[in-house]
Amino acid sequence: MMSALKFPLYLDNQATTPLDPRVLKAMMPYFTEKFGNPHSLSHAYGWEALAGVDMGRRQVADLIGAEPDEIIFTSGATESNNLAIKGIAYAAYPQKNHIITVATEHSSLLECFKTLERSGFLVTYLPVNKEGLINLDDLSHALQSKTSLVSVMAVNNEIGVIQDIYKIAEICAERDIIFHTDAAQAVGKISLDVGASPIDLLSISGHKTYGPKGVGALYISNHSKLSPFALFDGGGQERGFRSGTLSPALCAGLGAACDIARTEMTQDYDHIAHLAEKIKTSLLKECDGISLNGSDQHRYPGNLNFTLKDVTADQLIKELRNIAFSSGSACASGKVETSHVLRALDLSKDQIKSSFRLGLGRMTTVEEVDFAVGEIIQAVQKIRKKL
Ligand SMILES: *Cc1c(COP(=O)(O)O)cnc(C)c1O
Repeated sequence: MMSALKFPLYLDNQATTPLDPRVLKAMMPYFTEKFGNPHSLSHAYGWEALAGVDMGRRQVADLIGAEPDEIIFTSGATESNNLAIKGIAYAAYPQKNHIITVATEHSSLLECFKTLERSGFLVTYLPVNKEGLINLDDLSHALQSKTSLVSVMAVNNEIGVIQDIYKIAEICAERDIIFHTDAAQAVGKISLDVGASPIDLLSISGHKTYGPKGVGALYISNHSKLSPFALFDGGGQERGFRSGTLSPALCAGLGAACDIARTEMTQDYDHIAHLAEKIKTSLLKECDGISLNGSDQHRYPGNLNFTLKDVTADQLIKELRNIAFSSGSACASGKVETSHVLRALDLSKDQIKSSFRLGLGRMTTVEEVDFAVGEIIQAVQKIRKKL
């Protein structure tokens, strides 16, 4: 039996993923009867709330091969990135004042570097090749005695390419340089093992992995040579790295999401890779002049960013109101700007305007993909006829 399609079809799983119903179930008790403050340790209300936080912490740690005490809960990957980048830059200053990142990072990370640059830090923004990948020799040459930190994301949110973070971590470790990776789009999607690699810091977002919005985590390695300065002053929670009362519901939710990802990652990956292959094959065959952005080989399959010829993403979005997807002109907080990621790939302004992203997830079905592909092909033909 074919399941009924729910419109608009959701093909924007990089912007956010739907909450897994099992995650909601794990969170509910902490919104209601288990309302205690997890930092109140003189009575049972506090203890049961803390049990939810502790369990969540263990589940997050298990997914990435960390120890529970290496996981700090935050409000999301934006905060984790701020704590990691500014925290390390400040901790290493003034002995070291040079930091390195990549042109195609998420804005929450690039803006940290720009703020630090304005306040006097020296910043290197590494370029990427047409595939969206950095050159490891470029990285090695950029390292200086004054370099404190390198940050390179694992999976790119706009084009899905995967950087070789294990290799990069090794290069940094050889020079005693702290390595951070924004893994918001990687955690729960591809296997990550911080135990097998000298990664110092790793950012996680709840709502990119079928968990709740408003929670994330920062992995801080116990083996790291330098710890980040805290950005908030307060009660010293989270080993002093992040003061403020934790939300047991959100921590338990992030934990449950990570636990599901740990057991179902292979199944999710195969499902999504199969759907992505279907889309790629059909669109490349049926739409003239369409191309996939970013490396075909080093990528997470659930992120498909295409550029069309003679059809803008705006035209396509207007024509396809029954499908929710995103254009290449990433619309951060309502302000339309051409994507810095596609610019870094050397796409022209027109090509960027003609780029769109289809984001697949655990909940995406074959029926949805078949429907969407048919609609996209029709819409492209219709728009081109009007030319
Ligand atoms: C979504 C995202 C973020 C921001 O995460 P929030 O939890 O929404 O703050 C950071 N980096 C990447 C790569 C993302 O995709």
